[in-house]
Amino acid sequence: MAIIIDGKKIAAEVREELKSKIKWLKSLNIRVPGLVTIMVGDNPASQSYVTSKSKACSEIGMLSKVEILPVETSEQQLLEMIDLYNSNDDYHGILVQLPLPKHINENKVIERISPGKDVDGFHPISVGNLVIGKDTFYPCTPNGIVELIKRYKIETSGKHVVVVGRSNIVGKPIANMLLQKKEGANAVVTICHSATKNLSLYTKSADILIAAIGKANFITADMVKEGVAVIDVGINRVEDVSLPKGYKIVGDVDYENVSKKASFITPVPGGVGPMTIAMLLQNTFLAYIKITKQKLD
Ligand code: NDP
Repeated sequence: MAIIIDGKKIAAEVREELKSKIKWLKSLNIRVPGLVTIMVGDNPASQSYVTSKSKACSEIGMLSKVEILPVETSEQQLLEMIDLYNSNDDYHGILVQLPLPKHINENKVIERISPGKDVDGFHPISVGNLVIGKDTFYPCTPNGIVELIKRYKIETSGKHVVVVGRSNIVGKPIANMLLQKKEGANAVVTICHSATKNLSLYTKSADILIAAIGKANFITADMVKEGVAVIDVGINRVEDVSLPKGYKIVGDVDYENVSKKASFITPVPGGVGPMTIAMLLQNTFLAYIKITKQKLD
């Protein structure tokens, strides 16, 4: 039976570590790290994410501000708000909640965030630094995956990592992070996607399988080998009339059967999911350290 990777526990540890650092800053009576989250419109899912992020900041003593702009906000108005926070010393991280309304160009908005405050790690400069192995802000979900792999001491060096999914927020960055010639990485990486023929051929040879597909229970037991470490990024709603809300959340991996063959596995929920916000807090702390250090230099 697999070791269940407890993302909830690790995320709580990361938050505790940050909380004690911030407590120490407060005891010295100096500025603490701050995160501003900007949201345009009233998408309920976005609203719920923004609330969770803000709550997580407050719980560890980090300064947090949420700017909710009406859906008709122009691109120019949003860019001007980003400019304001780029030069606001109280906020070290700027996060623009995606998706944005269709009349706003997301790339333009992401590129406007100062790379030093890009705690989501989506700015092309952050992405470029990630690819060439320079110190940068790593996107939160892939960063959370690496943290889980490290804390559970799963060997990556020379191992075959198969990533199913090539999105800019999960698949591509996690593949590039694990490819780097450094500790906690140094893997042989294969990326699969919807045009991959005979997917099982790849997934069966994986020592570590990362599923970021967005399809419920897509990876089945016959697609993996004995002893594989499985990281399930998927968050999928499936109907379950036995539950009061009428649905449940499952991952991209058939957990029940794959866990019988795996050495490690992340559950859904409670695996990768909780790590994303923890890594956002960590990135904000990192931005704070970098900005404060620059000011002292
Ligand atoms: P995307 O929809 O952007 O990407 C899905 C990827 O899966 C694409 O690259 C797609 O290929 C590939 N794919 C689709 N069908 C197949 C198939 N039959 N065989 C092989 N590959 C396939 O999703 P995201 O990366 O944004 O998210 C993936 C999942 O992770 C979702 O369930 C999402 O909700 C979840 N998620 C969870 C987070 C967390 O905090 N835990 C954070 C972010 C996402 P192609 O490129 O060819 O279309």
